[in-house]
Amino acid sequence: MTRSEELFREAVTLIPGGVNSPVRAFGSVGMTPRFIASAQGAYLTDADGNRYLDYIGSWGPMILGHACPMVLKKVEEACKKGLSFGAATEAEVDMARLICSMVPSVEMVRMVNSGTEAVMSAIRAARGYTGRDKILKFEGCYHGHCDAMLVKAGSGVMTAGVPDSSGVPAGCTQDTLLAAYNDISGVEALFDACGHEIAAVILEPVGANMGVVPPKEGFLKRLRELCTEYKAVLIFDEVITGFRLARGGAQEYYGIEADLTTYGKIIGGGMPVGAYGGKKEIMEVVAPVGSVYQAGTLSGNPVAMAAGYAQLSYLNEHPQVYDKLAGYGALLYGGMEALCKEYALPYRVNHVGSLGCMFFSPEPVTDYTSAKRSDTEAFKGYFAHMLAKGIYIAPSQFEAMFLSDAHTEQDIQYTLDCIREYFS
Ligand SMILES: *Cc1c(COP(=O)(O)O)cnc(C)c1O
Repeated sequence: MTRSEELFREAVTLIPGGVNSPVRAFGSVGMTPRFIASAQGAYLTDADGNRYLDYIGSWGPMILGHACPMVLKKVEEACKKGLSFGAATEAEVDMARLICSMVPSVEMVRMVNSGTEAVMSAIRAARGYTGRDKILKFEGCYHGHCDAMLVKAGSGVMTAGVPDSSGVPAGCTQDTLLAAYNDISGVEALFDACGHEIAAVILEPVGANMGVVPPKEGFLKRLRELCTEYKAVLIFDEVITGFRLARGGAQEYYGIEADLTTYGKIIGGGMPVGAYGGKKEIMEVVAPVGSVYQAGTLSGNPVAMAAGYAQLSYLNEHPQVYDKLAGYGALLYGGMEALCKEYALPYRVNHVGSLGCMFFSPEPVTDYTSAKRSDTEAFKGYFAHMLAKGIYIAPSQFEAMFLSDAHTEQDIQYTLDCIREYFS
């Protein structure tokens, strides 16, 4: 038995499913998880000393690679000054200033501890601001595990085949309206029916939790128009796309401004950080200025701010990273497309910048319904082959691949060689 297998055997007796987040389980691919001991650059090392080329990057945060020396140095410095004060710090002001300077639509921002918390708080702020209750979300978009959003959420719930979580009272989701991603006429119909009761429309500007599903031409623009017309708050959940597609995230990439934006993942540089921000007028409904309560003992934690600030300021000052990542994306995902063609396989490679995924489906994937048509059995075989070759991709058809600044062209070429070997 390997050390990972030993650890998993004990873990399942102590932790539900042996993991602290369902997406880490290898159940849907019929395997047991590798326990990771350390990571450096684009590589992970497991408890048995096996090395893997990592395309998960902790599900997005590690855009500069693992254990980035510049980030570690800032974290060490911050640690020595104390781990938490529960009081205002200069680091929080620096962080807020940086975020507001990188994203034009964000005039004020509040730090929290996870993407889930950011979404939960942004929804509350939008409801408080508009005095309305209804939230429109899209099938297959994941917004963390807060009750109101656990309706046809993507990511782990999709893999587990449970579209709606149990333990969520009907009352918590009765104001959640659902539309299909990329289906603007469905959204228009909902606005026609009850547009003046809609507090917010929330979406991932690039769907990245049902595999990767880019927005169709004009989709985001029309959502922006509808929200403006009906005075609903447009919330971009940029927990994945924020600071990844561009310095200003998907809003900059597509040229559409949101009213509120939620962040997580990259913003913490690997530490547990989330944030929500947007127009001053909306953000000022939040306590202690306004009447929408939201708080956090460890929010804006100095060590977490040091990590996040180090990574974000590097990205801000080195925008060429985005060109490099886009080039890597073209190389990897373009290469995957070319291989599918060469071997006459009808698979679909969806990608935007450094995000991408191969759907084992002959149909174009544009929403939750078409994503679900993928052949997850075929994905299993592909996953096992790649893992055996030392390539660590998410153990699910419905997750993105994440490229980082620490990957190299040789890494990508090796990956394509392994896919070719699997196809041939
Ligand atoms: C990961 C994710 C979340 C939840 O963030 P956590 O930090 O895991 O709570 C929310 N929205 C999107 C788009 C995500 O990808």
